[in-house]
Amino acid sequence: MGANLESVIVTGGAGFLGSHLVKKLLDNDYRVVVLDNLSTSSIDNLSFALNNPNFEFIDHDVNIKYFRKTKYIFNLACPASPVHYQKDAIKTIKTNIFGTINALECARESGAIILQASTSEVYGDPLVHPQRETYWGNVNPIGVRACYDEGKRTAETLFFDYYRTYHLPIKVVRIFNTYGPNMSIYDGRVVSNFIVQALKNEPLQIYGDGTQTRSFCYVDDTIDAMFDFIQTPKGYTGPVNIGNPTEHSVSEIAEIIISLTNSKSTIKYQELPQDDPHRRKPEISKINELTNWEPIVPLREGLVKTIEYFKQKV
Ligand code: NAD
Ligand code: UDP
Repeated sequence: MGANLESVIVTGGAGFLGSHLVKKLLDNDYRVVVLDNLSTSSIDNLSFALNNPNFEFIDHDVNIKYFRKTKYIFNLACPASPVHYQKDAIKTIKTNIFGTINALECARESGAIILQASTSEVYGDPLVHPQRETYWGNVNPIGVRACYDEGKRTAETLFFDYYRTYHLPIKVVRIFNTYGPNMSIYDGRVVSNFIVQALKNEPLQIYGDGTQTRSFCYVDDTIDAMFDFIQTPKGYTGPVNIGNPTEHSVSEIAEIIISLTNSKSTIKYQELPQDDPHRRKPEISKINELTNWEPIVPLREGLVKTIEYFKQKV
């Protein structure tokens, strides 16, 4: 057992998305190696896998070159929450450049299929709504979010240059806001912040006036889409959007979470962070045509599962 299983490297596999992806891969009989420096995550996210003979964890900074023979690579290593990626902006952009080159080189030496976890942030503060993959975006290249936005855009460029130069089988997915269990209580993104505040009956901190929108996708749906897309035939490079097109304002999210947690929390308004996108909603017909994937978990159902998770953590 094990010897004939196909091997997969997941960089950033201890994080929120990575840990769910590892579970899905092990459940589907892959051999999984995680490379992660645990900078924004905890090994606890992978406790279910640590005794599995088909699983290996390597504490490694992806900015340092590595090699493992493998069939697939999912490149997820990068802080994803604005609070975390801005804390050490230079490290963030380095991870998007050097970490991405190291993943691409590992794929080239292995002959592996490689998927990049790109982001809706490549569209910046979009002037086109909803966002299609053909839209080139509206990014402030010198703003506080640029280490992430421009870093992820550069990573996409690197992927397509390796595709054009070496015919490397690449897959690029642009993930929109995803939520669910295994987010850190210190993650800093809106769903986890609001749930933690609501469970503690503390005021929910809305940045700006709360009219800005996001489209939230439950983690199981996002992981299914990544898993399906990496298995599409060579030449299906993407980029494809992955997300749930149901759009909500931040104020609506706050109200729903207060109601689902039966919280006594009130709302407090804080200053809107610089370059915070006003609206965001994915157009997902491209991935749907290629894989039949579409999100199936309604917001309230996903939030109930996420709240149950955070009740054990807060
Ligand atoms: P996360 O912060 O929970 O996970 C990121 C993981 O990468 C962590 O385990 C962290 O320790 C690891 N990491 C960071 N820098 C590293 C480095 N230099 N070397 C090794 N490991 C490193 O974030 P997430 O939400 O799970 O996001 C995973 C990926 O998906 C990221 O690339 C992110 O940009 C992308 N993404 C996520 C979302 C979302 O809504 N969750 C949306 C768009 C894109
Ligand atoms: N936000 C908020 N309170 C928080 C965290 C975030 O009002 O505690 C807002 C934030 O300003 C943004 C939206 O919620 O408009 C989504 O923020 P998040 O950091 O989750 O993701 P991103 O901005 O990267 O989409």
